[in-house]
Formats: sequence, structure tokens, C-alpha cells
Amino acid sequence: MGSLALLKSKIVVVPMGEADFMLVNRLAADIGPVFNRSVDILKGIKMPTEAHNLIRNQYYATVILSKLERTKANSRERVIAICEEDLYVPNRAYILGHSDNLAGTAVVSLYQIRQEFYGLPEDEGKVYPRLFKEAVLQMAHIFEVSACRNPKCVNFKSELMLDIDSKGEKFCDICRRQLTGIS
Ligand SMILES: [Zn+2]
Repeated sequence: MGSLALLKSKIVVVPMGEADFMLVNRLAADIGPVFNRSVDILKGIKMPTEAHNLIRNQYYATVILSKLERTKANSRERVIAICEEDLYVPNRAYILGHSDNLAGTAVVSLYQIRQEFYGLPEDEGKVYPRLFKEAVLQMAHIFEVSACRNPKCVNFKSELMLDIDSKGEKFCDICRRQLTGIS
């Protein structure tokens, strides 16, 4: 391996709690090529009880991110966790995902992107693309690609399933240009 390859940060995918391992595996296989990184899958870790808010019955995403930061083997790793539990940050009813670009950590929840949440039958054909798009969006933030206004771009931020389902799985030209030259 050349020195350039060694300098490249690795992506580490972490299943949290009862996260569906098939979805996590599939995501781990797909996300590496998007950012031109190698990917490791960590063995699962428990949902941090200190992140659980009893009144809201949700998990505080910021606390999960600080927990993830402590799992990093080195500062260059970029870590993304997948969980089944509902996430929040203060002043928001819920969030699909959250990331900290300085720490290089992200978390995505399957809770709201599952069809059962809307009283619909489970449909993996819908769930996986939503997970993939949200994970790519959070990783793009970690790799410091700025927010995108193009509703067709995978980096277009929306919490609405309608928007997520109708956006593509690829970056627009503007985002793609920002991605070249990331380390
Ligand atoms: Zn874009």
C-alpha cells in the first residue's frame, strides 16, 4: 500500500442496538465507493442508555455521537452508526440522522424511514434507498461538502419521505466537485 492510500481515512460502519444487520451490511458495501474509501464494519454496540430521554422516548443524537467518537481507533476514521431507535435534538420533534464533521461521526435512524412508522406494510425496496441516501448525506457533511439546494441531489437535506424518495442516489455536479480532493 502506498503512503497516499494510508493517508486516506477509512469509513467505519457501526450497527447500534437491534439495527437490521442485512441493511447495515448492504450500506457498508455501497458507501465505500461513493467516497472512494475502504469500509470496516464494527461489531454491534448497545444503544447508550445515557442518550435515552424517558419523557420523549427518543435518543439524544448528540450523546450518541460523543459515544461514537470514543470508538474511533484513530482521529482520521469516519464513523457512521445505524440504529432502529427514534432520534432527536433539542427543538426538533425528531431527526433522521445527525453528524459532527469535526469529530467525524454520524448516526442514522431507521425508525422514521421504515414504512411501519406510517402504518404501511414493510417494504425493503423503500427502506434501503432511504437509509442509503440519508447515510450519504450525513457522510457528505462529515467530508465537508456544503448543503445542497438541488432537490435531485443525494445531498439535498429533507426530513420528508416524499423528498427523500424523489431525490436521486448520486451527487450533483457541484457536490461532486467538492468531493474531489477530500482527504
Ligand atoms: Zn448537490
